[in-house]
Amino acid sequence: MKTKYKFCVSCLVLVLITLNCSNRQDLKEDKYSRMRKTMVEQQIKNRGIRNKKVLDALMNVPRHKFVPEEYKSHSYDDSPIPIGYNQTISQPYIVAYMTEILNPDKTKKVLEIGTGSGYQAAVLSLLYKDVYTVEIIKALGEKAKRVFDEEGYNNIIVKIGDGYQGWKEYAPFDAIIVTCAPIDIPSPLVEQLAEGGKMIIPVGEHYNQVLYLLEKKNGKIRKTETLPVAFVPMLREK
Ligand code: SAH
Repeated sequence: MKTKYKFCVSCLVLVLITLNCSNRQDLKEDKYSRMRKTMVEQQIKNRGIRNKKVLDALMNVPRHKFVPEEYKSHSYDDSPIPIGYNQTISQPYIVAYMTEILNPDKTKKVLEIGTGSGYQAAVLSLLYKDVYTVEIIKALGEKAKRVFDEEGYNNIIVKIGDGYQGWKEYAPFDAIIVTCAPIDIPSPLVEQLAEGGKMIIPVGEHYNQVLYLLEKKNGKIRKTETLPVAFVPMLREK
């Protein structure tokens, strides 16, 4: 009887501890969701991003899940964040700007070069039918893949390799987004862009580039300069 009583008390304590932990977890998630709302209002809407689908996607992707533990509290700051290996997750406004300019469509497919943390790919996954993303640093690509699995982003396919070459097997792509900067526009990416498709790509020397929009019409490319930007350089496979 005594042992049974002890057992019951232990069970009760365990239940209370679990409840307390999940409560704290809920409070943390609430805090992140409030920070995300402020981010969308102040950094994204205030700067002119209007596409409702893009705003909703940014509101729905938990950016903090893609940020390393030590920077979690900065997840919704108006700046890039280090993700290890000398790489960064882009500033939220740049993610929104590049996504909106592609005019995303849930019936189409997109190629991303530079998976990094996986955040941009997660945003795209809510706006496209399929997302193909290429990362040259194996550890980053694998980590992003684990987050996609944990968070249920199941229309993203990750490849480890040199994105300069695109992903011929799944080409052509309706949209291509490049999140690292080559010094010239990779011709395989231009070839793999579908007729009527759009590509957004930073081009130039280290941390001093122009973000170009490329549109393919009747097999011809129209190139428009958009913003000055500072992306990490595109690395090349040796
Ligand atoms: N889109 C990312 C931003 C990543 S930063 C995000 O949302 O977090 C740029 C990424 O491009 C880095 O992870 C870097 O390793 C990767 N990269 C650099 N050169 C590359 C190449 N040639 N092919 C594929 N990925 C590359």
